[in-house]
Amino acid sequence: MPTSVVPAGRSARRAAAEDEKLVFETTEGIEPVASFDEMGLKEDVLRGIYNYGYEKPSAIQQRALMPIIKGRDVIAQAQSGTGKTSMIALTACQLVDTANREVQALILSPTRELAEQTEKVITAIGENINIQVHACIGGKSVGEDIRKLEYGVHVVSGTPGRVCDMIKRRSLRTRAIRVLVLDESDEILSRGFKDQIYDVYRYLPPELQVVLISATLPNEILEITSKFMTDPVKILVKRDELTLEGIKQFFVAVEKEEWKFETLTDLYDTLTITQAVIFCNTKRKVDWLTAKMVEFNFTVSAMHGDMPQRERDAIMSNFRLGETRVLITTDVWARRLDVQQVSLVINYDLPNNRELYIHRIGRSGRFGRKGVAINFVKSDDIRILRDIEQYYSTQIDEMPMNIGDLI
Ligand code: ADP
Ligand code: MG
Repeated sequence: MPTSVVPAGRSARRAAAEDEKLVFETTEGIEPVASFDEMGLKEDVLRGIYNYGYEKPSAIQQRALMPIIKGRDVIAQAQSGTGKTSMIALTACQLVDTANREVQALILSPTRELAEQTEKVITAIGENINIQVHACIGGKSVGEDIRKLEYGVHVVSGTPGRVCDMIKRRSLRTRAIRVLVLDESDEILSRGFKDQIYDVYRYLPPELQVVLISATLPNEILEITSKFMTDPVKILVKRDELTLEGIKQFFVAVEKEEWKFETLTDLYDTLTITQAVIFCNTKRKVDWLTAKMVEFNFTVSAMHGDMPQRERDAIMSNFRLGETRVLITTDVWARRLDVQQVSLVINYDLPNNRELYIHRIGRSGRFGRKGVAINFVKSDDIRILRDIEQYYSTQIDEMPMNIGDLI
């Protein structure tokens, strides 16, 4: 079993309490099922779930699991950290027939890390059914992918580009695929994978079940739902429940870009009280800031999408283990990656849109942990900050002197 999978512990249980406050809008007739026992799951899968540390289904799992298991097309929309990806992992275990060594479930994710994370959760929950999962992602050897696929796997969890490539090479045979899952589909589309998604879809059997997971439902997503899905069951968390509640948000007015660096170094001691993630808008900026911090003898680590996979894995794992305390990164990392200890987020650059803001900041507020977010704001960014504040009906105050006490 992979050791990097963090089973749900105390913090996850606290999350369940938070979870119950969510307000759902569901297709008529969908009743929440409050326990895994009542879902008619395979005995071995059920054991896998409990062993993994889950006691009861989260709010969205209570509503979406049964329709998915029954073979319905499902749209599930909810904020990060509500248990959507775990739900996909669990259903993959339930839906595949492991006696048949063909790919039966295909899960697409926007980033390599997420695709791998999903692979790990499936392997963990499915340990009693000997499920074979392959993470089909860019940045790893094509030859290895081909070997793995030819050997035979039940589930592929991948990124759209590599999966599309493997299908076209006929290494990934699609004829036994029964279910297609698009996890974080809004993010997949915003990363420009639309053509690959449509391409992949064309290769899949006609009687396909489609499950679409998203934090938001922009028009492009609705377009996919109308083209790919049949009479889908909808399970939506009302938008105003995508909340920044419990997260203290501050800004530091820096006037000029050049002032940000000094502001950050002044905050460094505060960052290392706990663990902090610092977001920049570009990979170049991440590299630049990291080099500059190191030059001034601050210990930081950095991660972005241009780094080799192996390096990213190592950085993530060190951060998860708490061996590094300050991580500088781009939005590739903003989505949930099972790092529960981050309670401080710095927006070195303000994100380019409102959704990214909630994804960056949202991570620190999950699990009922107290979270703090600090935005570095140049004079001409103030307008954007006020827009975010208004849109989410939240409050972003000037950072107080005693910020360390609030973390
Ligand atoms: P999402 O995809 O909605 O962001 P995840 O599936 O990644 O959410 O789950 C967020 C966290 O909650 C993970 O740490 C996961 O292990 C945990 N989790 C998910 N479902 C449950 C559950 N039923 N019970 C306890 N913890 C859970
Ligand atoms: Mg997820």
